Amino acid sequence: PPALHVSDLRKVYDNGVTALHGISLDVGEGDFFALLGPNGAGKSTLIGIISSLVNASAGTVEVFGVDVARRRGDAMRLVGLVPQEINFNLFERPFDILVNYAGFHGVPRALAIERAHEELARAHLSGKAHLTSRTLSGGMKRRLMIARALMTRPRLLILDEPTAGVDIEIRRGMWQQMREINASGTTVILTTHYLEEAEELCRNIAIIDHGRIVQHTAMKALLATL
Ligand code: ADP
Ligand code: ADP
Repeated sequence: PPALHVSDLRKVYDNGVTALHGISLDVGEGDFFALLGPNGAGKSTLIGIISSLVNASAGTVEVFGVDVARRRGDAMRLVGLVPQEINFNLFERPFDILVNYAGFHGVPRALAIERAHEELARAHLSGKAHLTSRTLSGGMKRRLMIARALMTRPRLLILDEPTAGVDIEIRRGMWQQMREINASGTTVILTTHYLEEAEELCRNIAIIDHGRIVQHTAMKALLATL
């Protein structure tokens, strides 16, 4: 099965806003996939449904063949989410943030400790493991958010506008980190409203606008039309 299969997905919020008007989408295993669209297009709603934080109104979403509505626990184990806002406790240390997150998700403690060392190294944060997170630079905090999502070893990693509001130096470090994650076999989906970012990183792209997919194609094919 593909990493992600979305079929005729609809979302109507309680206030009557239709955020998704029946969208369909596939992402192959190993892909680096961009979901591009302006503010309000429905990107966060879609990734909220994929990561089991938001309920769909109709339609189906499967990750690696697992229906997220019917087998929520199994689906959640396959998906890692990096939210847009930094949401870890700034008074905790990076090492503890990673170990506690893994523990919360059922990873045995010895394994969590082993993985925390690995992920801190991969994020170039080993030297910061035991400092208060508050003292990390903006780029380091961003990389820690990504490292944390990897602690459960998700097969699909979703990043919600990971580089929004960060400067070019930090963005380059994050791009490198994301490329390495994808190269190690993890399927990556990122939302962005910068075509240049999608172009830099992604092989395939869907463009979403007003709750509808308006393009779903290989990045190269899209660039050829511009
Ligand atoms: P994007 O992530 O592309 O900016 P969103 O998925 O956040 O788009 O929003 C899509 C639409 O759904 C917008 O019109 C937004 O105002 C609306 N919306 C998002 N979240 C909620 C919510 N919790 N309740 C009601 N409407 C919402
Ligand atoms: P800042 O957020 O202040 O820009 P950085 O994110 O650049 O700090 O991280 C500090 C150090 O980590 C720098 O020396 C930088 O070169 C190094 N670094 C950051 N990302 C990577 C990476 N992907 N590969 C190698 N070194 C990196």
